[in-house]
Amino acid sequence: MSRRYRQPGTASPIRRRATLRVVLLLSLALAFWSLLGRAPQPQLQMTTSLPGIGPSTEIAATAEESRFGLTSLEVQLEQGEHREVVGMETFDPRPLFWPWGGKTARSTLRVRVGSAHQEWLTDGEATLRVRAKRHAGPLRGDKFVERVEVLPVRITPPQLAILSTQTWVRQGGSETVVYSVESTAVRHGVRAGERWFPGADLTGQPGASFALFSAPWDSDDEDLHLEAEDALGNRVLLPFVDRFEPRPVGSSSINLSDAFLEKVVPPIVAQTRGLAAAATPLETYLEINGRLRADNRAQLVELGAQSADEFLWDKPFLPFPGGKVMDGFAMRRAYRYGGETVDEQVHLGFDLASVARAAVPAANRGRVLLAGYLGIYGNVVVVDHGFGLMTLYAHLSTLEVAEGDVVNRGQSLGRTGATGLAGGDHLHFATLLRGLPVDPVEWWDDHWIRDRIGRKLGSGLPLMAVSP
Ligand SMILES: [Zn+2]
Repeated sequence: MSRRYRQPGTASPIRRRATLRVVLLLSLALAFWSLLGRAPQPQLQMTTSLPGIGPSTEIAATAEESRFGLTSLEVQLEQGEHREVVGMETFDPRPLFWPWGGKTARSTLRVRVGSAHQEWLTDGEATLRVRAKRHAGPLRGDKFVERVEVLPVRITPPQLAILSTQTWVRQGGSETVVYSVESTAVRHGVRAGERWFPGADLTGQPGASFALFSAPWDSDDEDLHLEAEDALGNRVLLPFVDRFEPRPVGSSSINLSDAFLEKVVPPIVAQTRGLAAAATPLETYLEINGRLRADNRAQLVELGAQSADEFLWDKPFLPFPGGKVMDGFAMRRAYRYGGETVDEQVHLGFDLASVARAAVPAANRGRVLLAGYLGIYGNVVVVDHGFGLMTLYAHLSTLEVAEGDVVNRGQSLGRTGATGLAGGDHLHFATLLRGLPVDPVEWWDDHWIRDRIGRKLGSGLPLMAVSP
């Protein structure tokens, strides 16, 4: 038997086989890893809050990779020479040999881009890049995936110019302004603090727009601006008031008797959803006079948005015939009970008394927007006259019109009464602009209508038969 000598440093066949096995297993393992590495790349999504970039547009970038998890997500903005990483997130990867460990499978990054954030942006276009990387493995890279979107950039606000002259406003009163606004504007009108009086095209004057507005009874002239905004949020504000006449709020007081509370509170509670009687009639009354009054005023503002985009009237407004004025517009009322002041509210209409159950004529032509029961107003009719102007008739005993009816100037709407918060039979009459009570006296004055509105709108206001 021959003897084989093993050279030092060479493997025996058994060892060689063992090595082969190890190599085979390693190859299988690597093949397994590479298979794992063939998982899909992260999925990217991008949404924008506006159809382009203006002063401030929110970008929401979402990346998703549920197999290995994400390691980074970033948003870049690029225009000409400029490139900026506007947002970046990084995530801890799952440990390599701990497949059950935590990972970030999905993430959304929210950033804001626009002229308020990047001073170098100019009108034109800009490129947004969303990039995400997934967790790298032995045989899979972490090369980023990218989604690119080109968006229009506009940072110049719409052009706005005043065309009418002599904008004289009285606090609590109404007024008209005529202006021109660039066609890029999607919203324009008069802003008075939180209140908004939208503008409309002026018939017969191409390129001109107008707004009927009020200097609200509770705000200053600094709150009044002409405003225009485009679809990307570029906004221009123009002061435009030539003369502002303050109008102090008057004062009056009302004594609350137990008999009065017991008479008015139960019917309002019975007819108002979401209102329950409190421990005492006075507490319920205070809830009605405070919260319900505020709710009802908000409902009138909502109703104001439904006003027609046309003048439904063409003659001056009629006052309530033979009505004795019991209380006027913008009076601060102190409510007294048992010798103490228990509440304060501002009365924003006219209280007019005639005979009991007197016929209530429509002040002008219009369409009935509301005919029914509304909290403090009791049975009420609201007539829309167009472009935000409405008249309100409250505390009625009977209604003679229905919602949707077109009523003529002088047509009876119902009979006076004492429903809602009313001590006795009277008419509470209010003039509203976009739901905000304004002083009705101006609208009863044909000279004022001719001078403040007719003169500015010209043929845009179908004013007929106005006495000179
Ligand atoms: Zn009243």
